Amino acid sequence: MTPALGIDLARGQVLDALRGSGRFLLVTHEHPDGDALGSLIGLHGVLTALGKDAAMFLAADELPLPSEYRFLALGPTVSEPPADLAERVIVFLDCGNVDRTPSGEARRDGALVLNIDHHHDNTLFGDVDLVVPEASCTAEIVWELMGELGVAPTPEVAEALYVGLVTDTGKFMYENTTPRAHAMAADLIAAGVDVHAVYRHLYEGIPAAKLRLLGRALERMDRYDDGGLTIVVIDGSDFDAAGATEEHTEGIVDHLRAVEGTRVAALARERCEPGGEGRMKVSLRSADGLVDVSAIARAAGGGGHRQAAGFTTEMSADELVAFLREQIDAQS
Ligand code: 5GP
Ligand code: MN
Repeated sequence: MTPALGIDLARGQVLDALRGSGRFLLVTHEHPDGDALGSLIGLHGVLTALGKDAAMFLAADELPLPSEYRFLALGPTVSEPPADLAERVIVFLDCGNVDRTPSGEARRDGALVLNIDHHHDNTLFGDVDLVVPEASCTAEIVWELMGELGVAPTPEVAEALYVGLVTDTGKFMYENTTPRAHAMAADLIAAGVDVHAVYRHLYEGIPAAKLRLLGRALERMDRYDDGGLTIVVIDGSDFDAAGATEEHTEGIVDHLRAVEGTRVAALARERCEPGGEGRMKVSLRSADGLVDVSAIARAAGGGGHRQAAGFTTEMSADELVAFLREQIDAQS
């Protein structure tokens, strides 16, 4: 079967399940970003408009959401799998890998699992896998499903899907910014999105602690191999000094990617949450588009997109630098 037919088949099966079932549990990946939340809230709104019972799962420690996403119309969520889980269709959104969701235990015999995602390295863990790597964001797939289900977006749904689109395309600047991504934007703006208000919520009103952390991080920048690897490692002392937490690291790696000569940008930060001690979370970005950073992340047990990927590791900072230099070299 050609991949295109496979996707059409999966899309048909997803639409049948969304139309035919009454109860759902919607889940997304840990430390949800704009696309995770946007696709979650968007699909929740679509199913609600169809008169369905769709519970959104978010682990208790994910709340409150990072400040930039708090304006979203999240609504009630559950942090434990519901008692009737076995009768619910479970929909995973933006989850390349079932281990990346705190709701992994939500999988139980009897419930149909729909896996809706755009990561090219998705592990295809669903009963139905609607994995569309050409989609700019998971929210784009939800937007298309919404159209096929004949649901018109409320302003809240349009805003949520737009947040997924804006964040995953880097404000319409990354390679995944297709004509379709812009068509989706046009449709959502027509449905009531206040573009500038969303921009302000997402990118302005930055907590001072976040900027202080950025300042410390930039001071820690190291460059190897003529700058080909540009890396920052931050630890608990940086978080303490800035009064910052892990959510404040978002976006730092993008500054590193922008430095001239960089091929791969890396941000490694010590995990602060209980149980995370001694482990580092690493974010990778491909700056020149030639190095596939998802392959590097996979070699370390993580994954992601060719241009943006990540993993968690017990390597020391020195081991991490050696590992990344080797991996970049191996792809050259
Ligand atoms: P970020 O660096 O913004 O946390 O993540 C960038 C992308 O890398 C995410 O969109 C996600 O696809 C992927 N990613 C980050 N961390 C992990 C991880 O630990 N495992 C997997 N499989 N993917 C990750
Ligand atoms: Mn995404």
